[in-house]
Amino acid sequence: MEELSREELARVLDFYKELGIESVYIDDVKDEPMGNLLSRQEKQRALEDLMKDGIGDCRRCRLSETRTNIVFGEGDPDCEIMFIGEGPGADEDMQGRPFVGRAGQVLTSLINKMGFEREEVYIANIVKCRPPDNRNPHSDEAESCLPFLKRQIEVISPKVIMVMGNVALQNLLDPDMRITKVRGKFQDLFGIKVMPTFHPSYLMRNPKDKWLTWEDAVTVLKFLGRDVVHDPGRG
Ligand code: SF4
Repeated sequence: MEELSREELARVLDFYKELGIESVYIDDVKDEPMGNLLSRQEKQRALEDLMKDGIGDCRRCRLSETRTNIVFGEGDPDCEIMFIGEGPGADEDMQGRPFVGRAGQVLTSLINKMGFEREEVYIANIVKCRPPDNRNPHSDEAESCLPFLKRQIEVISPKVIMVMGNVALQNLLDPDMRITKVRGKFQDLFGIKVMPTFHPSYLMRNPKDKWLTWEDAVTVLKFLGRDVVHDPGRG
């Protein structure tokens, strides 16, 4: 069969969808994450559809009763790296944006040191509504919300996901995993490389471990074939 570009293949799949065909078997790309077939605009549209039609004014779990805003996630839908944390805190709940409080400053600083702007990566959480008193999300809440995050990952199909902290790691990969055991070692999710690392809130309490997070970031940058420009000795 003649080789098609991503855009051409996406158009063919759209055409099949209009005909009522919901799934097709494509041998050559069967291991390819679905988002690799979409342009940046198509990814943006798919995420907007998820936000408006899929999530809407979601009431699927009890966190909806106490939230101010749903924190969907933000960034470049066609990015190389996604950062995934646990859930919104007070600042995030007020603004409806992920990682904008003090932990957000630590994350933004890491992103910048890696050579990216926040707008060039994608940031999201396991749950999209703030757990009261900043408690960990309960397993049924995470379970209700995870399909939304998994859809975001599927659409964005980043090259790497940095999963931050035990809550994100255990909900996304394996409930028996511990950050202290697996950080720095690539894991796999839907064929996408996942780098477990400490949560920025942990680094605020344990700044002496920041260099370990930087080591994880360097491993990610090397995998992406990017230059490591930051000198960790300079803070
Ligand atoms: S946390 Fe997720 S599942 Fe629960 S109400 Fe919010 S958006 Fe819906």
